[in-house]
Amino acid sequence: MKQKSAEYYISEIKRMKAEKNAIILAHYYQTGDIQDIADFVGDSLALSQKAAANDADIIVFAGVKFMAETAKILAPEKKVLLPDLNAGCSLADSCRAVDFEKFIKDNPGRTIITYVNTTAEIKALSDISCTSSNAVQIVESLPVNEKILFAPDRNLGNYVLNETGRDIVIWNGTCHVHEEFSLEAILRLKKENPGAKIIVHPECELPVRMVADFIGSTSALLHFTKTDKADCYIVATEAGIIHQMKKYNPGKKYIPAPGIDSTCGCSECSFMKLVTIEKIYNCLRDENPEILVDMNILVKAQRPIKRMIEISDKLGL
Ligand code: SF4
Repeated sequence: MKQKSAEYYISEIKRMKAEKNAIILAHYYQTGDIQDIADFVGDSLALSQKAAANDADIIVFAGVKFMAETAKILAPEKKVLLPDLNAGCSLADSCRAVDFEKFIKDNPGRTIITYVNTTAEIKALSDISCTSSNAVQIVESLPVNEKILFAPDRNLGNYVLNETGRDIVIWNGTCHVHEEFSLEAILRLKKENPGAKIIVHPECELPVRMVADFIGSTSALLHFTKTDKADCYIVATEAGIIHQMKKYNPGKKYIPAPGIDSTCGCSECSFMKLVTIEKIYNCLRDENPEILVDMNILVKAQRPIKRMIEISDKLGL
């Protein structure tokens, strides 16, 4: 069968969106062409807020499964579609409910804060969700003596622990993209580009965080490059964000931080990149694959996400 052009898919997606009252929410780690057709592009926090407050009947989630699940949990009456069901997340997969229940039992009496990069089952076991945009503030919003259990990203957990000095036990999970950045290669790039600033996501390992000029969530890194005076950045997070950075400041230079294995293209999340324009077209046309969450789990998982959104709204995040 003859392959249709990108223009065809894009114009059909626009037509079907209007016809079906659908919106496309895209994460910053999607490819530039997908970001450009989305109704809203953002990080996990902004996308959760958007999923909770919109008038669409259908949400097409250009991202990974836990994000689409979060949208379904927040808007159970809507149809939520994920263009490729294989778009998972190594970090979410590192925390299985059966193991997490044991971890909670082994560490009783703690408030359970879990990163939004988790399955619906893990959210259902949690007290508050967080994202990298608000993790520090969520922890700081709790009484000083409150004991905390944080999961699943150990690097973000250690970053939050260092920033807040709170009593936190941390699950040992990592993201395969953010733990792969090579400190050696970043320092070599810095030598070649002495004016460049190293900007780093808190999911990165401590040695990489230690050489950072700025550490922040994906949206915080974007904001930094918009307002900062430097004209070159070494970007240690998923390279998809560079599309937005270039849009706001096309005159600046953005260098994706290389991975330990120079042949692997490690600065790209292979799960995020499973979504394509063609798959978005197919899923909007067929209204499939649809994300469904068991109602019992969904109701329990609503509580921590809503609490996160309430605290974030209160703090103006
Ligand atoms: S970048 Fe890491 S945390 Fe984000 S979806 Fe990919 S594997 Fe998961």
